[in-house]
Amino acid sequence: MRRRWNIGILAHVDAGKTTITEQLLLLGGSIRAAGSVDQGTAQTDWLEVERRRGISVKTACAEFTFQGDTIGLVDTPGHVDFAGEVARSLQVLDGAVLVVSAAEGIQAHTRTIFHALQKMRIPTLIAVNKVDRPGVDIDSLKEQFSRQLSGSCAWLQEVEEPGSTACRILTEDTYANDSSDISASVGKGFRERIWGRIFEQLAELDEELEERYLSEEQPDPESLKEKLRIYTRLGQAYPVVFASAKEGKGIRQLAETIVDYLPDASARSTKELFGIVFQVTHDPTMGKAAHIRLFGGSLASRDLVPVAGQEPENWEKATQIRRIQGGKFLDVGRMESGEIAAVYGLSGCRAGDVIGGEGMDLEEWESAMDLQPLLMIQVKPVDEQKEMELAAALTELSEEDPLLHYERNPMTEQMYLRVMGKVQIEILEELLQTRFGLEITCSNPSVVYKEMPGHRAVGKEVYTMPKPCWAVVELQIEPLPPGSGIVFTSVIKEKVLPYRYQNHVKASLLDTFRQGIYGWEVTDAKVTLTDGEHHHVHTHPLDFFVATPVAALRALTASDAVLLEPYVKLWLSAGEEHMGKVLGQILAMRGEFSSPEIKEGIFHLEAVVPLRDAMDYPVTFRSLTSGKGSYAMEFDSYRPCEEGFLETLPRRGVDPLDRAKWILSCRSAY
Ligand code: GDP
Repeated sequence: MRRRWNIGILAHVDAGKTTITEQLLLLGGSIRAAGSVDQGTAQTDWLEVERRRGISVKTACAEFTFQGDTIGLVDTPGHVDFAGEVARSLQVLDGAVLVVSAAEGIQAHTRTIFHALQKMRIPTLIAVNKVDRPGVDIDSLKEQFSRQLSGSCAWLQEVEEPGSTACRILTEDTYANDSSDISASVGKGFRERIWGRIFEQLAELDEELEERYLSEEQPDPESLKEKLRIYTRLGQAYPVVFASAKEGKGIRQLAETIVDYLPDASARSTKELFGIVFQVTHDPTMGKAAHIRLFGGSLASRDLVPVAGQEPENWEKATQIRRIQGGKFLDVGRMESGEIAAVYGLSGCRAGDVIGGEGMDLEEWESAMDLQPLLMIQVKPVDEQKEMELAAALTELSEEDPLLHYERNPMTEQMYLRVMGKVQIEILEELLQTRFGLEITCSNPSVVYKEMPGHRAVGKEVYTMPKPCWAVVELQIEPLPPGSGIVFTSVIKEKVLPYRYQNHVKASLLDTFRQGIYGWEVTDAKVTLTDGEHHHVHTHPLDFFVATPVAALRALTASDAVLLEPYVKLWLSAGEEHMGKVLGQILAMRGEFSSPEIKEGIFHLEAVVPLRDAMDYPVTFRSLTSGKGSYAMEFDSYRPCEEGFLETLPRRGVDPLDRAKWILSCRSAY
């Protein structure tokens, strides 16, 4: 039977991901000539925005045939700003190829991706590309890998003449077909070096191998390969290969290594229908396309598609099923377990939806990537008449990317979006322009703050007038450690307040705390229902939804609510001579750092700084280190702002603390 792999190719921008993808497609005969990123003709960079900018924004798919099997490539965006998309595509992968440039070594985003792949236990192999670039130093790369990447790197190849276009990638096959004595002995030496080192590394992971290693057995490539396969699947070891994609070198060997060491789609198949919508796009003629990976079962055109969480009467029919290859479509009408395809006709479907069986937890995946958009912007149409049009466009875009978190303030009509970074804002502006013909202006990004109680406090609301109504709610609020979220408990009995109403209090509280007294989401709070009262005649079913917000916000006010801001972690390294300036800058940003480690004239350092001060840090760092340093940034935690600092967000809707107006607005609504 034909086997199939869905492989993600991931990399820091510019490492050569697109070039490698093109070369693989060429190898498999899926395209006639490799497009070139530099000329804007790459097959997978199909969005117009991408063509102009030379970066991949949306996940694109392509596939090729290799030795009779099929390898599907899920091309994931390389920029940090699109991490939401990266995480969603990770969950549909059978394995990943992490591309690292031999010239630049491990870069900022490489680390972030590597962490995510590890957390999600995605079998990964590493392709060290650009070995032709002048100055490439393989030994120092190996040293950097073992220092910066946890897990065992199994270097399967060697490079002859690295740093020149005459470079040659040496594998076991290089020597296999040449039977001359010299070649045979060189080949033997090669095998002993390669497998001897892998033997030593795997012995640290595997007891059986450890015993054999300690008793000084000779490395046996066949059994070591099998072990390497096992530990690769477990996400504890990473086969490493070399490439010079621009020169078309190392590409066949890369494909062989994928087939040899990464698990195919059948490794994760389920019996029942089960799939994940990892992306939603819009086609000008066909409408919404749900990009689905099926893990089990099959889907055909005209099938009703069961989206988990939707009522069966709302299920929609698939109108067409297509495979997308570069910008081209093939109507296939059907997809099987293990495949990835675009399904049309599902108008209610969103990125992240599950098809069929439940059991996979998207939230867990997203938290594995620490995906909290930490910045927000306010957007306006240049032409004020187009406000409704913009609102519709933003709704559509946030269906494609729920992390955008589009929100409109009904009171002020202001529109807000959450974003991961500045490049994403530029892309948004262009998308709105090219797809919807809308010009917008964006405010400068602000960080997304949160609020939490300062200390234990109580808030009470007695809502008994004007009749008919009766709801008394008393809430106690207290701070919890960072990352706890909101915890609700009740200490009153059913006799005092029926559980039905207690549930109303809980639901209303969670809704209320989406904006606290400063307008930000409330977090890290324990809220206890300490008293309550209803009236068997006067209580209207919705009264607790009127009283709870008042009590909750009174409690929060009484607790002297604290404003929290996001902090990010930075990993920095650069030449020792720049260290003084870099450390000074971190202190100037109110940051803290660990004691730097210095090796061979290069310092390595971890720091934690408030994002508010670090928004332009990538640029600052580049200029502090004359462009020679390397840095990575990742969300760390929410921490209290300095005393006296306050930033508020206009309230969406009527303020429950403006009690009379609040009650009036609630009553006129029901
Ligand atoms: P991506 O951003 O990771 O998709 O990287 P691209 O494939 O767009 O490549 C970035 C740049 O590096 C382009 O100018 C490529 O021509 C160049 N490049 C890619 N692979 C190689 C290689 O093996 N050697 C050299 N010297 N340049 C390469």
